This record gives sequence, structure tokens and C-alpha cells, in this order.
Amino acid sequence: MNNTQNSPVAKYFLRKKISDRVINGHPWIFANELGEHEAEAQPGDMVEVYSSNGSFVGRGYINPASQIRIRLVSRNKDEVIDASFFKRRIQEAWNYRQQIGYTENCRLIFGEADFMPALIIDKFNDYFVLQTLSLGMDVWKEAIVAALQDIFKPKGIYERNDVPVRELEGLAQQKGFLSAPFDTNIIINENGLRFHVDIENGQKTGYFLDQQDNRRAIQHIVKGADVLGAFTYTGTFEIHAAHYGAKSVLGLDISENAVAQANRNAALNGVADRCRFEAMNAFDVLKQWGKDGRKYDVVMLDPPAFTKSRESIQKAITGYKEINLRGMKLVKPGGYLVTSSCTNLVPPELFLEIIGKAAKDARRTLRQVAYETQAPDHPILWNVPTTKYLKFLIVQVL
Ligand code: SAH
Repeated sequence: MNNTQNSPVAKYFLRKKISDRVINGHPWIFANELGEHEAEAQPGDMVEVYSSNGSFVGRGYINPASQIRIRLVSRNKDEVIDASFFKRRIQEAWNYRQQIGYTENCRLIFGEADFMPALIIDKFNDYFVLQTLSLGMDVWKEAIVAALQDIFKPKGIYERNDVPVRELEGLAQQKGFLSAPFDTNIIINENGLRFHVDIENGQKTGYFLDQQDNRRAIQHIVKGADVLGAFTYTGTFEIHAAHYGAKSVLGLDISENAVAQANRNAALNGVADRCRFEAMNAFDVLKQWGKDGRKYDVVMLDPPAFTKSRESIQKAITGYKEINLRGMKLVKPGGYLVTSSCTNLVPPELFLEIIGKAAKDARRTLRQVAYETQAPDHPILWNVPTTKYLKFLIVQVL
């Protein structure tokens, strides 16, 4: 599907009156922003993009089946997009992560923020998990795998392309080995603790690396505390809490598998005596426990995105407000709420507004301890607002 040497590279021209988003550094070009084109391109091909007056904008891959028609991968006119280009980009991304302090685990490629639109690669020490979420990136999967082999000599590479967003690009959902098969149940180190990661069947790529720094941020407020954590997944925040000196920790998740893994993780870290997990629906349980008058020193919430589209954003707003209201009611006066939101559809200001409304309804006063975002291995590229997605808030609930 790549351009052969004989066929001329297609040239696409931007419409005159479009926003300067693309010129200012955003890599996405929507169908309605394109005007004329010269020569034909096959779906997934690299094309050249020019402004309406003919100046070179960049090179990117095209998919006529997608609303996001072209995604730019380079703005350098002389840069050839071949296998060595992908290797160079991956090496640059790794150099950057090492420079900012990463050694073992990190999100190695965070799509647009690493100038590799729709590519996700998580590095779990010697193992790599990859997602190619667009056709134009999927075409280069082999080159990407070869680059990982060359640079890292990994123990294993696994594809977690079992995500619905691929269907918007006309791609099938799939998962499997991209290297020789290996045991997909691995153990990673984080903040001096150890966690089982199920690369094959865990959520997303198996583990949420983006909260790594935020898990450390709870260390002072959990000492001697009774802690309730909801949406615990494999128990990462809760096990940190137990490790940092919590008296008791209860973690809840709706998934039996997640709870089983969380219990294994508690045992792995020697905190199973004060850290237990149960499979429950947090919405129901928190409401009931509020009515029962249960109280905790610290309540931690890390719910899923609630929505994937701008159209149903109200659903997310209602979800965040409800769960935070219920969580706050369970906090003893002077205790703490630790709360997160992982969707870029709810911007930071809106998230704070929602928490503020929940506090008003609960008749509680909030005092802010920390307000953070994702760890820097998930870089925020200022020209691409959707790269800023995680909100992490610690408040004292008075
Ligand atoms: N805190 C975790 C990530 C949580 S992801 C970490 O740092 O690794 C969100 C989790 O919420 C998922 O594990 C999902 O199974 C769980 N979940 C979704 N709806 C739920 C509900 N109604 N009640 C409890 N858990 C729920």
C-alpha cells in the first residue's frame, strides 16, 4: 500500500480559509480542510501537503475512510518517510524519556506528542506493547517492530490493537505477538513496589503508567489512615497507600479479574494483611455507604472516561459529579479526597468546576493540596490540546 517508486507522490492543498491550527503545529487535517490535489493516493499512503498558495506544509498519511483525512508525520521537506525514519523517531523518543529520568518503564511513544500520530508504545522494562490506531500507522507496523528489535533487543513485543477506534479507520480489532511468543504475565517495578501486569488481557496496554507520579503524591496523607479506593483496577493506588503507612485499605472494582490481580499485587508487596479488594459497583456501594454513615480518612477515585465522544460529554459531567459527591460524603471532616479524570473531553477547568459543584451539594469546603496531570512520559504538546488529558486532584475535605 506504500507509494511505489514509479507512482508520483500525491500532493494535497489546504483550503484557503481554514483555521491556522495545522500551520501552527497540529498534525490533523480534516476532510473539509482540503481543496485540490494532484496525483492519486491509495488509502494509507504518505502524501505531501501544501498551503493554498503552494508552500510546503508537511508529509503525512492519508485515509479517505477517516474524518481525520491526513495526519502529518513530518514538516521537513527533505525528510524521507521510510523504515529508518521510524527508527529515528523511536530513538529520539527514547532519548527524551531517558533525559527526563526514565530507565525501565515508560510510555515510549505517545502518538501526536511524539510526532507519530496514532501510535502508542508502552515499554515495560524488556517488554513492549504496541497500538497502531490508524491505517497510515498500521502500514508501518513491521518497520516499527524492526526498530524496537534493533534499538532495545526486547524480550517480547505484543500488539494490543483490540480497540474499537480502529474501526473508524477501517481496521480490524486484533491482538497477538509481534515477536516470538513469551509469558505475557510480567512483573514491573514502580516507586519501589512491584506489580503484576497482564499484557494480553489487562485493560488497554495492561497497565496505566500515566499515574506513576500521582501514586507517589498520596504518601503523606495516607499515614495511619483508613483508606477507601474505588475504580482500583489492579490496586496500584491502594497498594501505594498501604506501603506509605495506611492503617487499612479497601479497594473496589467492578471487574472480578482486576480484583483478583489487585489481591495478587497486595501479596506480592507484602501488604495483604491491611489491603483488601472487592468486586463491586462503586456507584451503588458508595451511595449506600454514605447513607449508612460510613467514614474514611482518605477516599480515592479513578473512574474510567465515562464518554468517548463530544456528543455525550454531559454523561461524563454527570458521572464525575455523582461519583465525587458520593466519595466526598464518605470523607471524615478534615480527611482527603484523591480524584482523577482521564478524558481529554473534560478540560481541567471543567473538572475543577464539577468537583466544586459536588462540594457545594455535599456542603463541604475544599482545600487544595495538589493538582497535577499525567506523568511526563506522556508529553503534553501545547499545539495539540488533546494530549493534555489527565487531571489528578488531592483536596482536603473540611
Ligand atoms: N486506578 C487504576 C486505573 C483505574 S481504570 C490504576 O491506577 O491503575 C478504571 C477502572 O474502573 C477499571 O478497572 C474498571 O474496571 C473500573 N470500573 C468501571 N466502572 C466501575 C464501577 N461502576 N464500579 C467500580 N469499578 C468500575
